[in-house]
Amino acid sequence: MLSGKVFIVTGAASGMGKATALLLAEQGAAVILADLNQEAGEALQHDITSRGKRAEFIRTNIAAEEDVQRMVDTATGCFGRLDGAFNNAGIEMSFKLLHDITLDEWRKRIDVNLTGTFLCMKYEIAAMLKTGGGSIVNTSSIWGQVGGKGISDYSATKHGVNGLTRCAANDYGVDKIRVNSVMPGTIETPMILERASCVTGFEEVLEVARRRHSVQRFGKPEEIATTVAWLLSDQSSFITGAAIPVDGGYLSN
Ligand code: NAD
Repeated sequence: MLSGKVFIVTGAASGMGKATALLLAEQGAAVILADLNQEAGEALQHDITSRGKRAEFIRTNIAAEEDVQRMVDTATGCFGRLDGAFNNAGIEMSFKLLHDITLDEWRKRIDVNLTGTFLCMKYEIAAMLKTGGGSIVNTSSIWGQVGGKGISDYSATKHGVNGLTRCAANDYGVDKIRVNSVMPGTIETPMILERASCVTGFEEVLEVARRRHSVQRFGKPEEIATTVAWLLSDQSSFITGAAIPVDGGYLSN
């Protein structure tokens, strides 16, 4: 489905990014694996290339402009072009009420989740304008559509990601660049599972969340990956500016 295409995946070393990078490579794409985590990123590169598929890890902080520029230059330098990106790297909520969130905590989430997504889109779109188009998928969240308790910092960033997505779809539709976002429900990734194992009371919070999903379970990273691969492919050629829930029915409750 994606044979010969070149994609960037941020947050590729773990969770949904890793599952998506593996699927894109499996479907024949060359994948730039961008992440802060060098050890896990290099291990994934080795895993993909040892199966005869194409991947290149580049250590990237998506909140640093020079890193993001280098990430996009690596895609075009190694593989000659860029056909799309899964802008997925992000950090979790502080789980504090708004009046307890420090300015540093607020800025950290804005920097990574929102400014990081903006920077990636800025340089990816510039590259894709040169080769006639492409497809971008950003990771928002169900909290990019509705609010919740103790998540105002995170929810603000994910609402922002949906806003960026819709505006870019408007700006670049004429250039054959499609831009969509996915809004995952709770997905079983280290972001969730590691917190559950170390924060008192978090298991109970998760149990309530689990029941809010119509399917009465959490999602798997691979269930995000299949949607993202489809959005990156030409099979979704008439979809742009959409924020697509991949949430086991959470937002319909
Ligand atoms: P994860 O923690 O498993 O993976 C996130 C990856 O992003 C890690 O490899 C981490 O090293 C990387 N990363 C973090 N900050 C970075 C930075 N500044 N630059 C580059 N890489 C960075 O988490 P995940 O659950 O797979 O989350 C992926 C995305 O999905 C995030 O944007 C998250 O907000 C969003 N999301 C997660 C859930 C969920 O339930 N897990 C639900 C909705 C949305």
